[in-house]
Amino acid sequence: MATTLLERPETVEQAESRSKLFVPDLVFVEPAALDYPLGEEIYQRFRQQGIPIRMTTSHNQVRGIPGDTEVEQYRNAKRTLVVGVRKTLKFETSKPSAEYAIPLATGCAAHCHYCYLNTNIGTKPYIRVYVNTDEILSRAETYIRERAPEITRFEAACTSDPISIEHITGNLKRTIEFIGRQKYGRLRFVSKFHHVDSLLDAEHNKHTRFRFSLNADYVIKNFEPGTSTFEQRIEAAGKVAKAGYPLGFIIAPLYWFEGWEEGYTHLLEKLNRQLVPEAMEDLTFELIQHRFTKIAKKLILQRYPKTKLEMNEGERKYKWGKYGKGKYVYPDVKAKALQAHLETEIARLFPKARIEYFT
Ligand code: SF4
Repeated sequence: MATTLLERPETVEQAESRSKLFVPDLVFVEPAALDYPLGEEIYQRFRQQGIPIRMTTSHNQVRGIPGDTEVEQYRNAKRTLVVGVRKTLKFETSKPSAEYAIPLATGCAAHCHYCYLNTNIGTKPYIRVYVNTDEILSRAETYIRERAPEITRFEAACTSDPISIEHITGNLKRTIEFIGRQKYGRLRFVSKFHHVDSLLDAEHNKHTRFRFSLNADYVIKNFEPGTSTFEQRIEAAGKVAKAGYPLGFIIAPLYWFEGWEEGYTHLLEKLNRQLVPEAMEDLTFELIQHRFTKIAKKLILQRYPKTKLEMNEGERKYKWGKYGKGKYVYPDVKAKALQAHLETEIARLFPKARIEYFT
């Protein structure tokens, strides 16, 4: 498996590879996955494609991902797929955007330097998809019933980018249609990918909010290798809006760089020019400033040693979190400036849109 210096600004070849669907270099299959039709189907598909397949008793037993150094192994792991069964059917909470995280997969083949998965699934960077979808959805139904008539929202992107692997399982479409039938259930997810065509005819019943993660050109080009370009994401957002989905944008991480005000204004003006009118009717924005933990910083510098990502604790404010674990955010003056600028520009360019939160 080739390794590339992904921490550098992208080359033409890298930009082109953004439009390709992820194909794993190596697949591990848990035997229990073959008891499910979806597991068997995925297994047969990769076998026919000639992709190396190994059996593994459990994803915790995955061994032999190639690479002479930790960095090589990390990069190769991100091109490795594990097909398995989700055993824990207790869903994690997912505030502030939803009540629960719905577990459909973990991991992602892209290389965003600040990816939350660096720490969330730090030691297991391979991509894991689950094939016991009916059991997962049945558990979701129980959660919905427990809270009815309150609406229960599920977030499908807490541990993965669900669009980036949808062509492998089709699980996101199944979940969208399942939630479409739930009077008191709603689904949301976010993606940096544009592969949305298989979802356009899903019977979503407007119960799914389809969000795209966007950022200023400078940020996408320097820190998001392996994801779809800004233009690809906007084009996909237009298709999704035309298919009747409620649409949203997460601008994250809001990052302080030289020229950030013009950069973010340019992003919103471009979005305003390119977005189809259908999208404007029910549009949300979520704004998340850049943050990092000490552990994340260490991992990012190991994996992307030439990254330009600024993570200087001395220029940040320490924000205490749950269980005594804190993170470094921007000091109040910078955070407020980011928030004020984004809110002003969104109000100017998207007067009907709702800003859900800034954090
Ligand atoms: Fe992480 Fe999302 Fe980037 Fe994938 S696309 S590496 S999940 S931030």
